[in-house]
Amino acid sequence: MSSLIIDDLHVAVAGEEILTGVNLQINSGEVHALMGPNGTGKSTLSETIMGNPRYEITAGKLIFNGEDITQLTVDERAQRGVFLAMQYPMEVAGISNADFIHAALNAQNNGQAVPVLPFLQKLKQTIQFLEIDPQVAERGLNADFSGGEKKRNEILQLMMLKPSLAILDEIDSGLDIDALKIVAKGINAMRDDNFSALMVTHYQRLLNYVVPDVVHIMMNGHIVATGGPELATQLEATGYSQLAEAGDNH
Ligand code: ADP
Ligand code: MG
Ligand code: MG
Repeated sequence: MSSLIIDDLHVAVAGEEILTGVNLQINSGEVHALMGPNGTGKSTLSETIMGNPRYEITAGKLIFNGEDITQLTVDERAQRGVFLAMQYPMEVAGISNADFIHAALNAQNNGQAVPVLPFLQKLKQTIQFLEIDPQVAERGLNADFSGGEKKRNEILQLMMLKPSLAILDEIDSGLDIDALKIVAKGINAMRDDNFSALMVTHYQRLLNYVVPDVVHIMMNGHIVATGGPELATQLEATGYSQLAEAGDNH
């Protein structure tokens, strides 16, 4: 069974330690939620799993499907099936969204071109499924997209690329309830034995629509509590401060 194992991960940004020993295992088929207050290191963890070189791993390792990927580049990780939907997706004016997804699929396919017609057909179906404006496929990547369009576009990329591990960093932020339901529909459509996800979120709301198998709470750069979906509900009631007192014995 495939999995991501995060083993005592310490990460520094600009010389300052942000992640202070993260341990986490996500098995194939599981959806995990990662919650925690602002500035606690959730995006740092997301970027580090994807391999962003700005985040320096000072100790610990990442094992993906039995392979140590700690030193691999973003591209090498993507080729192995890791996908990151970013909290603030970048805009690329010159490249259309369809071209971007096609290029990413080709890269996944060891550089061999994925046939265009079936690709376009699948793209069209998925755009319809996610109730995205068809013109979005032709526009520059994320250029002039509203916040909600960007998030739905990330789910479009997710559904087209079919990664085995998706890191979704605040995919729910700034979404109205209709857009949130569509994003959730997309994530739920991905769920199967060969897919796993780490959903980073501040709010219980998303978890009403995508029910996670496991919930983790991160504070001060490490996981202070792990449980089932009830942990998120409990958190909504009590807030982070009580959890900090109960759980932070690091
Ligand atoms: P979260 O996603 O939980 O809100 P972040 O991982 O974004 O937290 O940030 C954790 C800490 O690391 C913050 O203090 C933030 O200022 C710092 N940090 C994160 N990324 C960078 C970066 N690229 N450059 C400088 N500081 C950063
Ligand atoms: Mg430690
Ligand atoms: Mg963040």
